[in-house]
Order: sequence, then structure tokens, then C-alpha cells
Amino acid sequence: MMDPDACRRRLEADLLSVQQALAEADAAADTVILDQSSVGRLSRMDAMQQQAVAAGLRGRLASQKLKLQSALDRVTAGSYGLCCQCEAEIDIERLDSDPAAVFCADCSMERELHGEKLRDRR
Ligand SMILES: [Zn+2]
Repeated sequence: MMDPDACRRRLEADLLSVQQALAEADAAADTVILDQSSVGRLSRMDAMQQQAVAAGLRGRLASQKLKLQSALDRVTAGSYGLCCQCEAEIDIERLDSDPAAVFCADCSMERELHGEKLRDRR
């Protein structure tokens, strides 16, 4: 059985590093803007590309932050480690590689396949 306190500590540590990375991503985005106006060495396309990369990274970090926060909520609620779809226990190995995992391996795969189908239809 999992130790909820250990899970919470792990999630809080992950959340902290994601928040740190988010702050760095924000700083990097500001640097691009500064370079563009003060140095002018970056072409407009380069700057736009760098900003798009920074925005993509920022978006991924922001969603990871939400995942970690909701995982912490589930620890508090006592439902951490249970699949949000079928309520089966998520494998320890799976939680170890992604402590914020929301679905068990089966449901996650099913949802991925379902998502693929949805994308194909468009
Ligand atoms: Zn499941």
C-alpha cells in the first residue's frame, strides 16, 4: 500500500520544480522581447519562433502544474492512486514514473486511441 505522506511530499517537490521552471520560462520570454528592441540582432521571425517555443513550453508546464495540484487534492480526498475513469488502483510503477497520473494504463491507452480516432475524423 502507498504511503500518502510520501506521495504528497513527492508531488509537492515536483510542483515546486514545475513552478520554478514556469518562472524561468517567463523570464526567457521577457528576454526575447528585450533582445528584439534593444539589440535588434534577432530577426522578427527568430524572435517569433523563440516566443512560440517558450509559449509551448509554458503551456506544457502550466498543465503539468494543474495535474500535480489536482493529484495533491486527490491525496487530501483519499482518492489518490485510483484511476479517475474505472477507479482501479493505478500501478505503483506507473505512479512512480508519473506521480500525477490520472488514469490506469488501460484507460490511458483507451483514451489515447479514442483521441486518435477523434483527430482522424476532423
Ligand atoms: Zn482505469
